[in-house]
Amino acid sequence: MAPTIKHRSILHTLLGPVGALADGSAQAQSSYARERDALLKELDAMARDTGAETGRPAFSARVMAAMAKVPRHSFVPASYGALAYANQPLPIGHGQTISQPYIVALMTDLLDLGAGDTVLEIGTGSGYQAAVLAELVLRVYSIEIIEPVASHAAALLRKLGYNNIETRIGDGYSGWPEHAPFDAIIVTAATPQVPPALIAQLKPGGRMVIPLGAEGEVQFLQVILKRADGTVSAQRSLPVRFVPLTRGN
Ligand code: SAH
Repeated sequence: MAPTIKHRSILHTLLGPVGALADGSAQAQSSYARERDALLKELDAMARDTGAETGRPAFSARVMAAMAKVPRHSFVPASYGALAYANQPLPIGHGQTISQPYIVALMTDLLDLGAGDTVLEIGTGSGYQAAVLAELVLRVYSIEIIEPVASHAAALLRKLGYNNIETRIGDGYSGWPEHAPFDAIIVTAATPQVPPALIAQLKPGGRMVIPLGAEGEVQFLQVILKRADGTVSAQRSLPVRFVPLTRGN
């Protein structure tokens, strides 16, 4: 199961000469830069194509700059280096996936983040989405339930110098009350209903983006808005496919 959107571009892969160069050499770096440029163009085109459904025919310049900056090749397993900038989800081990770049950009854009914001992510996975968020806001808190996945992401984010991300191993269903309330919450695993604790931990005026749907059913990306009086509204966005939000102890 992979976070993805049903769209013709899902089958599009960028298989270039980088295949043999999935390393840190200067040659590989410049090849990655070319592939990243191509990916950014594809994100622009896809935002335009899906704009009527998402309400976002163009992603903000800030979001696109973050997508341009974060080295996705550092977040995919070395064996997938050739596909690091392909617009598709990839396996990261333990049955989990790094989301499709378009979905990362869309979910980030839908959060309408400000530079001073504090964001909670449920489902750290590879750490890629957390890194994109960290480029845009003051502080990111991210929770991952699978211990080795969480440890790997935490070490990688530290190595890459993301000092404004704090990670934790645990069940994100209950959120992270010690750091609440959050300006925005992003859930990168699918669940039939919005976990009540996450609504409670969202600031009035805050936004949550979450894929809602039971396992095996069509899931829809939803944008949840919490009004000043604490009531919430939900807007349905695109059909997506995410791994399920599992429950711990
Ligand atoms: N955001 C990730 C992709 C996430 S895939 C990225 O950028 O790579 C979904 C992740 O959510 C998986 O790693 C899975 O283990 C994790 N997950 C599932 N249920 C969870 C829960 N209850 N709490 C925290 N993490 C959970």
